[in-house]
Amino acid sequence: MGDFQGKLFVFSAPSGSGKTTIVRHLLQQERLNLSFSISATSRAPRGEEKDGIDYYFISLKEFKSKIKNEEFLEWEEVYRDNFYGTLKTEVERIWSQKKHVIFDIDVAGGLRIKKKFPNQTLAVFVKPPSVDELKIRLKKRKTESEEKINMRIAKASVELATAPQFDKIIKNYDLETALAEAEELVKNFIHSGNSS
Ligand code: 5GP
Repeated sequence: MGDFQGKLFVFSAPSGSGKTTIVRHLLQQERLNLSFSISATSRAPRGEEKDGIDYYFISLKEFKSKIKNEEFLEWEEVYRDNFYGTLKTEVERIWSQKKHVIFDIDVAGGLRIKKKFPNQTLAVFVKPPSVDELKIRLKKRKTESEEKINMRIAKASVELATAPQFDKIIKNYDLETALAEAEELVKNFIHSGNSS
């Protein structure tokens, strides 16, 4: 394992596209040797979410102080006063375990990681069937208010336009197909090491 080359897998998509399901599936494939990059966020935990597992839940004040101290690889105010970011220590932690890093982050953050580590990163955009379908999925989730859902939908339209900037696009019309495609992309990138 002396020549371990840590890779980065970015999965970005509008919220409700099914990317979290894809990322969870990939994490279950032991042979892929992936570990989830736990983001820091200033938003409150939702449902069953746990600190240090789903996110590092920190206060807005603490988040801003970490920005000032340059502790983030990338960060974003994804929604007003809801900051999300990848701590530099997170990637170091995972690479030191000789594992590849997988991210479930927003489009802007995903592209920033790709820019910082162009050769080591495979950036994948997960495309939902349509904006209407997204709305249905978000409503089904029943974890957010109407206002929050509308905020996410508005952002989704902007995000969809960035898809061509990613290395690969997965169309999540049929989940089984999308999962198989994602597995194949990750496997190939670990072995070949290029994103073209
Ligand atoms: P949620 O509140 O649904 O967990 O996440 C909202 C959005 O923030 C999602 O698009 C999610 O991928 C994104 N996000 C989560 N962690 C990060 C991060 O570390 N950096 C950036 N830029 N976006 C993130």
